[in-house]
Amino acid sequence: MRTTTTPATARVAIPAQIPGRKCWAKALGAIDLHGRGGHAVEGPWLDRGGLYDLRPGLLLLTVERRQGEDDRALTATLWRVDPHVEGGLDLVKTWRNKSGRIGPQIIKGLHTHLSKARSRKRNPAPYPLREYTPVNPKPRRNKYTRRCYRCGTTVAAGTGLISRDERGYRAEHEVCPPPVNRYAGHCLHCTGWIEAGQGILLPTGPTEDDLLARAVAFSQGEILETPQRWRPAHDGACPAVPAPRPDPQTNRWAGPCELCWQIIGPGRGALKGPRGDRHLIHPDRCPDNPLNPDGAPTWVVHERTLGDAPVSYDYPAGTIARVTLEHGPGEGPGWRELPEGRVSVIGVVIAALRRRHLDGHGRDGETVTTLWRVASPAEAERVLELEARRWAATAVAARARELLALLPGARPADAVHPPAEQLEDTALVGLAQVWLPRGAARPETRVHVDEANALVWTVVHNSADGDDWALSNWGGYIATAHPLTEQRRQLLDDLRDLQ
Ligand SMILES: [Zn+2]
Ligand SMILES: [Zn+2]
Ligand SMILES: [Zn+2]
Repeated sequence: MRTTTTPATARVAIPAQIPGRKCWAKALGAIDLHGRGGHAVEGPWLDRGGLYDLRPGLLLLTVERRQGEDDRALTATLWRVDPHVEGGLDLVKTWRNKSGRIGPQIIKGLHTHLSKARSRKRNPAPYPLREYTPVNPKPRRNKYTRRCYRCGTTVAAGTGLISRDERGYRAEHEVCPPPVNRYAGHCLHCTGWIEAGQGILLPTGPTEDDLLARAVAFSQGEILETPQRWRPAHDGACPAVPAPRPDPQTNRWAGPCELCWQIIGPGRGALKGPRGDRHLIHPDRCPDNPLNPDGAPTWVVHERTLGDAPVSYDYPAGTIARVTLEHGPGEGPGWRELPEGRVSVIGVVIAALRRRHLDGHGRDGETVTTLWRVASPAEAERVLELEARRWAATAVAARARELLALLPGARPADAVHPPAEQLEDTALVGLAQVWLPRGAARPETRVHVDEANALVWTVVHNSADGDDWALSNWGGYIATAHPLTEQRRQLLDDLRDLQ
């Protein structure tokens, strides 16, 4: 028996471009019989003139089209990869189309050949795209300005190289320029100061912190990879006299001023204090806060979130609310003295910010800072009015609980708790109803007024866990009748006023 060994791949030279014609090539993956023209051919693109290592049996298509005004004739050639043929390609069939399209006839023909080859298992399905990387990638210039995939900076049109990967085309510099320093810092060589963008970045060894982190990790059985560190340096020769670090230092990132808590844009603030304990403030004087036009005294409230517990004053700037202040003002709208020198008063939030922090145990949290001034009487009016309403509602609710049987098992002395049989003839549902303020009784509690018989009825839900169900005389409810006394009439009027 004769044995032939077929190599796993064949080196294939894709026919080169023909000058003046539009040329392309594709490995045949599938033919979409409903697709139009070249879109019907599915498979990875191949570079004309490229050299590939492809699997024997694979079918591939090369197409050339004339570019003339009248002559747009197209030639499509089907090839089979064959390691035993010179150039690795065996010609299968050639089609011509005068109108320059890949017409239905060609599509059908390609489909027939592909199906036949598949059924004889001679044509493998296309394999992962990375296998279609040419062995001799031809360097090509980038036609358009792009971003270099290696260094991330711009490659001007025509100065870099284009190559293809699985995701498409990518551009790169022939030689990437050294990266520019985005942040100001000391020169690695002369220690002189270099402003942002004025120098280059050079790789350096690990910092002391890196070495310490590595040692700690190693003691816990971990190997820590040291990150690549970069330091700015002068591009070319260092100046004879190193530039000193300018003072005051400015902030790289936007942040709140620690005096007025308004946000300072990058580069506009002053960083004061030694390294590791820097404080950001406005360089000269803090600008006026539009929410504190008269420059009234202010109080800072810092609160830390702990787990899911909310903070008390999670308010945006401009909020008017009651606030408790340490060493608070001597007077103000709604002023009340609290123990330990604290004061409760209506205030206005004139600045507010949230900052993330790590506590001593490495837990994530937030610090919410609010800056307050005392509200003017006009500003405080609405909050004080709402407070007064709430107080009134609380007082009326307390009276209601005293005068009406609003809780299971408790009722005023003159109230009547009729047996269930007697209630069968009593139409409670049709009677006028009076609403109770929230918190006065259980949510389902109803109060009805029977003017004709001079009675007030309460209907209290009584089928919750722990209730004494023997008290129920109205389904799962306790219905109680109260004589409509003058006190109760006043109570009903007050309840209606609250609504
Ligand atoms: Zn680059
Ligand atoms: Zn230098
Ligand atoms: Zn400030």
